[in-house]
Amino acid sequence: MADRRILLAGIQHETNGFSNLRTTLADFRSYQYAEGSAIIERYAGSGTEIGGMIRGAAAAGLELVPTLFTFAMPAGLVEAGAFEKLLGVIEHHARPLAPFDGALVVLHGAMDVAGREDADAGVVRFVRGFLAPNAPVVATLDYHANISQGLVDAADVLVGYDTFPHSDFFERGEEAASILGRLLDGMERPAKAFRKLPLLPATVKQATTAPPMARILAAAHAAEGRPGVLTCTVAAGYTYGDVPHLGAAVLAYGEAAAATAAADHVAGLLWAARSELRADLVAPDEAVARAMRAGRGPVVLVDAADNLGGGAPGDGTVLLAELLRQQAQGALVVLWDPEAVEAAAGVGVGGRFIGAIGAKADRHHGTPVPVEGDVRFVGPKTYVRDGSYMKGTRVDMGHVAVLRVQGTTIVLTSLRVPPFDATHLRCLGLDPAAQQILVVKSAAAWRGAFGDVVADAILTDTPGICSQRPDRLPYSRLRRPVYPIDPAVVWTHS
Ligand SMILES: [Zn+2]
Repeated sequence: MADRRILLAGIQHETNGFSNLRTTLADFRSYQYAEGSAIIERYAGSGTEIGGMIRGAAAAGLELVPTLFTFAMPAGLVEAGAFEKLLGVIEHHARPLAPFDGALVVLHGAMDVAGREDADAGVVRFVRGFLAPNAPVVATLDYHANISQGLVDAADVLVGYDTFPHSDFFERGEEAASILGRLLDGMERPAKAFRKLPLLPATVKQATTAPPMARILAAAHAAEGRPGVLTCTVAAGYTYGDVPHLGAAVLAYGEAAAATAAADHVAGLLWAARSELRADLVAPDEAVARAMRAGRGPVVLVDAADNLGGGAPGDGTVLLAELLRQQAQGALVVLWDPEAVEAAAGVGVGGRFIGAIGAKADRHHGTPVPVEGDVRFVGPKTYVRDGSYMKGTRVDMGHVAVLRVQGTTIVLTSLRVPPFDATHLRCLGLDPAAQQILVVKSAAAWRGAFGDVVADAILTDTPGICSQRPDRLPYSRLRRPVYPIDPAVVWTHS
């Protein structure tokens, strides 16, 4: 049975409904992008879903036919033309070899394409067009997927990450390939139990290494060990999409009664934990003062409202302004500002930079901060991740400038660089462990980069399009009531 041919495709995006940065084809091409056999060459052995699918397919005797894998940094709506082009690439590689015996699809689950409803479900339905009748589709999802009924209906099985910070890309890819192999070996098509909750958990409370999510994931894993349950996914959801299917969900597959019992049990635990999933935030001035007073560093100031991993620009200046105002020493801030990088390059290493930096993408993340300081480094930078987040993948920082302003080191980048791996600082000769204060534009994923060296972390109440206070976000399509915006909302199992 080694010649069962499986279409392999992946389009991943987490789309922030409040960002004015449109996501273009160039954004997909510049982050993660490979077509055809280059997918296998690039991702075999990497800590990604594709890496896991390659291993799992080999173990199950499946022949993968790779078409497209791409992933753009979270940002605003995906341009319709870009999405059509990506589907066209899948078609280009799939059409000559169709029909396939099955498909493995890598999705995020929170993609929003201009003018389209539920684009993730659209990808699965598109892929089905190249399969034999009744051929199974298994897809992987991010823990931050806003799972829709349409997506559940479109795929035979969905497998979501069990970790945040995400570190099980490979394992979930391998699991998806293994499930597909069993379906093709004659395992009965599993029943689906889908529970959508009216719940928007604060991103900073979603870490699966801490309560309450640690115990909820433990319950999901225990459910997977029960007879009749094939797999169980907990999706925390992504609060920053402006879509009707926003929010957390639990999904279980298997024999109907067992899957239903598993989904109801885990969803009940998640709903019962809702008050623990609200963020407690500290005002920026107080957060900086506390970090300066701390006996031991580094203290991480979590700027979750400007979370790059959630589609915010990563150029918010509220904490930088406060660090400079209070004359903090040993602080490190990374900001996206292509204009300032160019200006610093004009000054050159050893020169004096004078200008306003940051807060140029929109009006939601503070105002540009006037600074004067020494230029310590200018030049292009790329690095290869070597931590728990997508180990082995290459990241382009674009052009980078390092400034020293009072006691604060400011790294300016021309591309948006998330703090998911400490290498983005180490490659510049900056040791995160040696800092007193680290500003991170991330909700929880920064723990994968700095979690082992950090002395303390403070969740700051900054403004931004990834605010931990959903009541401040300008939704137009949100279904109400929803917790915590409507604290008295009632949910009962469907
Ligand atoms: Zn995620």
